[in-house]
Amino acid sequence: MQTLRTDCLVIGAGLAGSAYALQAAQQGRAVELLSLAEPLAANSDRAQGGIIFDTSPQPEELARDILVASDHTANPAAVQQLVREGPRAVQELLLDELAIGFDRDAGGVLDFTREGGHSGRRIIHAKDATGHAILAAVAGRVAATPRITRRTGWVAIDLLTLSHNSKDTSDRYQPLTCFGAYVLDTATGETVALVAKKTILATGGLGQIFLHTTNEPGSVGHGVAMAYRVGARVIDLEYVQFHPTVFAKKNAPRFLVTEALRGEGGVLLNARGQRFMEAVDPRGSLAPRDVVARAIIQELAASGEPHALLDLSAMTPDFIRTRFPTVHATCLAHGVDVTREPIPIVPAAHFACGGVHADLEGRTSVRHLNAIGETGCTGLHGANRLASTSLLECLVSAKFAARADAAEIARGEFRLPEPREWESPGREADPVLIRQDMLQIQHTMWNYAGVVRSPKRLTRARRILLELREEIQSFYRGCRLTRDLIELRNAVQTALLIVHAASLNPHSKGSHYVVEER
Ligand SMILES: Cc1cc2nc3c(=O)[nH]c(=O)nc-3n(C[C@H](O)[C@H](O)[C@H](O)COP(=O)(O)OP(=O)(O)OC[C@H]3O[C@@H](n4cnc5c(N)ncnc54)[C@H](O)[C@@H]3O)c2cc1C
Repeated sequence: MQTLRTDCLVIGAGLAGSAYALQAAQQGRAVELLSLAEPLAANSDRAQGGIIFDTSPQPEELARDILVASDHTANPAAVQQLVREGPRAVQELLLDELAIGFDRDAGGVLDFTREGGHSGRRIIHAKDATGHAILAAVAGRVAATPRITRRTGWVAIDLLTLSHNSKDTSDRYQPLTCFGAYVLDTATGETVALVAKKTILATGGLGQIFLHTTNEPGSVGHGVAMAYRVGARVIDLEYVQFHPTVFAKKNAPRFLVTEALRGEGGVLLNARGQRFMEAVDPRGSLAPRDVVARAIIQELAASGEPHALLDLSAMTPDFIRTRFPTVHATCLAHGVDVTREPIPIVPAAHFACGGVHADLEGRTSVRHLNAIGETGCTGLHGANRLASTSLLECLVSAKFAARADAAEIARGEFRLPEPREWESPGREADPVLIRQDMLQIQHTMWNYAGVVRSPKRLTRARRILLELREEIQSFYRGCRLTRDLIELRNAVQTALLIVHAASLNPHSKGSHYVVEER
């Protein structure tokens, strides 16, 4: 087994991980930056709407909007950090250093837009592909930064802790301390021990454990599962935000269908062409996200149909083509001409409000282990997330964690032990078993722990997942590792944690909705 040593091991190269890597390297630290696949294969790249850049003299209004969106459950300290430090983080990295091409008017003034839940225009954007503009620029800078070593296709398997993975057996009496991770190099099939002074979980979201999701493949809560296995505190996992409208044609990829379509007159219909939102909420198709998502799920459960429809016939074809070019082109590429026919849609898992508990400098309950971006949970979102806060959270959490770590590394005495050897069996994993187990997790989570939950459904989900975890564990121990196998093992763990958190919380709040026993 090869062993590599570094200052900072960053697991995940989305916006949070890449921003951390840049800042740690600028402060003189050596960084290893891992990702499952190529640099832009991350949820950060998929972000459409924009990023908050609130330069108003009243940051308290943004703080209030975040608290209201969270149903008054967000952590006020985390909210204050975001609203006070966010503008500087955007200015320094995105505007001054990387000069990202956000939309501006003819005079060069930034175009501020507004989204649901915001009381003012404070979101900057690059057309409807903001995440791509940001991540491409950040990844370009990462590639040109000497102290960062990028490792694509290097999949973290498990965290190294003194108590479990040091060759020196007396280390098991040390406090719970992380010193890196075992990582699979998918190109060679070799397992590498990456020993680090600081290990940073920036593995993004967990939407892929549900049948329908807006998330990038591989978003199964890798960081949450790895952290949980070494005993880190995980919190708020029952709060998974669902987006109401995601493209849902058979055999076509899922992608987000913007809410702005309903703002411009798009109407939700069931598969028989009937309106159903008006019976649920006086605001009809313009009701808030979670109300719409629940109404669609209930309609589909009652009718047995696989999807609902979003009808755009109130808009002229020309208007649709100019105002929504991305939606128009993407749907057309998958055989749906939205100027002539409604869009098939379903709700989908979108954002994890909970995660690995972290303080305002990214520290988790395990020494030298950080969690940032969507993987970390400072309580910023509480039970539900305000639109366009997440990219900003990535920047702020990365900046504060990198600064604190660089100072600690410069000061501190880190003893990095020799890791124990990794032993890998030679037998190939059967891909059919992996695929089927993953589908079972996704169906179970969607039906029993998705948009609408009940104690009975959660109990059933728990039983299925516990059995599945046993199966997967024994299968995992006997087979040579692959990315799919690592993903499956983490997916079932993350799913169980969500079900457990949801079972312990009988109160509907924010994105967690529980119905009475039926
Ligand atoms: C469709 C969509 C639209 C969105 N729109 C917006 C928006 O307009 N504004 C906004 O603020 N937010 C938006 N969000 C949310 C936001 O994009 C994400 O919350 C944020 O980008 C997460 O960034 P991250 O760096 O934490 O994770 P990601 O960007 O998901 O990156 C995760 C990284 O971790 C790597 N990784 C995972 N597991 C492992 C492992 N075991 N080993 C090695 N590497 C691993 C992945 O390869 C990837 O590089 C949107 C999200 C989606 C899905």
